Amino acid sequence: MRSSPRPALPAAPAEVVPPTCSSAAQRRELLAQAHALGVPKDYARTHTLRAVREASDLAFIGYDIHNRPQWLQPRAARAWFALRHAAAIEQVELQVVSAFRSIEYQLGIVRRKREQGQAIEDILRVSAAPGYSEHHSGRALDLTTPGFAALEEEFEKSPAFRWLQRRAHAHGFTLSFPRGNRHAIAYEPWHWCWRASRD
Ligand SMILES: [Zn+2]
Repeated sequence: MRSSPRPALPAAPAEVVPPTCSSAAQRRELLAQAHALGVPKDYARTHTLRAVREASDLAFIGYDIHNRPQWLQPRAARAWFALRHAAAIEQVELQVVSAFRSIEYQLGIVRRKREQGQAIEDILRVSAAPGYSEHHSGRALDLTTPGFAALEEEFEKSPAFRWLQRRAHAHGFTLSFPRGNRHAIAYEPWHWCWRASRD
């Protein structure tokens, strides 16, 4: 049996700079900064989360709904294009809100929220601590669809979400944070992570 051709990954335009990943020393420094912002030392245990390595190789996947360039690790990028294509055939439009995020980027999110006066416990209910986000791996995607606000629970009422529930698994994507998940992270119907490959 002939295997189906792999979808080609688009090349990034010359002016788009790929994000850089941190060295081991930078990683330690960034995690120290996260603790200084209030991330508890026992965060991994209390949230049953493992440290996530940053992707070592990233492929450009196009632009998100805010026109920012986005990246995934190459196999996850191929799986994403196959998923988006399969959805489009059934008149479902999947759009990217966020894909790869470095530890440094995640630290910036937490720092901004702290500066706005949010308590660290409230921040960590909706954002993973730097070093623990699935987005570091280049396998996770935050998705939306036209007519629905990005990163809002109402996404679960969209035809896109219902389609993902039926079909994402066949493409290796699973919902990481369902309602009442064991990680004490808020329900995220938009967050899908590629974990498996069928090839
Ligand atoms: Zn996410």
